[in-house]
Amino acid sequence: MTTLAVPNKGRLKEPSIRLLRDAGLDFEVTDRALSVSVRNVELELMFVRTDDIPELVHDGAADAGITGIDLLEEHGDGLPRLVELGYGRCRLAAAVPNVSPIATLEDLTGCRIATAHPRTTEAYFRRAGIDVHVVSLRGSVEVAPKIGVADAIVDLVSTGSTLRVNGLREVGTILESQAVLVAAPGAADRVEVRRIATALRAVVDGRTKRYLLLNAPTEATERIASLIPGLEAPTVVPLAEEGWVAIHSVVDAAELWALLPRLEEAGGKGILVSPIERLVP
Ligand code: AMP
Repeated sequence: MTTLAVPNKGRLKEPSIRLLRDAGLDFEVTDRALSVSVRNVELELMFVRTDDIPELVHDGAADAGITGIDLLEEHGDGLPRLVELGYGRCRLAAAVPNVSPIATLEDLTGCRIATAHPRTTEAYFRRAGIDVHVVSLRGSVEVAPKIGVADAIVDLVSTGSTLRVNGLREVGTILESQAVLVAAPGAADRVEVRRIATALRAVVDGRTKRYLLLNAPTEATERIASLIPGLEAPTVVPLAEEGWVAIHSVVDAAELWALLPRLEEAGGKGILVSPIERLVP
């Protein structure tokens, strides 16, 4: 039986469960159960701590797992990353007290940097040729400068509000992170694991796209097609009414704000935009 390790608490739990359900898996989550069988697919979900997942997958206790890129960098030992999942976005950033004269990562030369991500931090500054002293802490990293154990910190940031509350200012990013599907060593090419990757990627890709449908006078087809940066050339179908066509395409959700008025100006009528449940290009 194939086993997928899934976060059992914290920030990645709910979005991971939603993704698996959106991908079509039918399962129950209880507070106690560590392992849950999926009803409609030969798959076992193992609910465990997000930060244990790199190691469990590395040891082969699970064939694949969902965790954060930051945790993989820290504990993951080069596990194959199959799909970036688009949630749990954050960055590992260096920050200093507001009053500090430090303005760039280079200025951190010779500084003591407190972090719960010592491996990633050491590796980054070594690669960058910046000589720093890393102080490894388990938690409350943001108070380290206040109590005098460090000059700067490296910590996970998403909005930056925790830094601001603690009187800290960001000076640079050392890693961009998001949730990711990883495979156990040697498991990435197994058909069951490839199927998990395909199913999740289809949902993740669908979330950033929309299905676009509109009617237009035939002579506007080229003008409209040139506006649509679709997945492929748009589908153009003649309508029952002479001189009119329907145009279908898949577009980036992020582009619709600018695209819709331009389509209307180009002669588009009856413009419809729908969500895409899954997308396999
Ligand atoms: P948890 O500690 O279980 O809530 O999950 C932590 C994981 O969530 C981290 O390893 C990151 O991959 C991700 N994450 C996303 N945004 C943040 C954030 N602002 N702070 C900490 N972790 C975050």
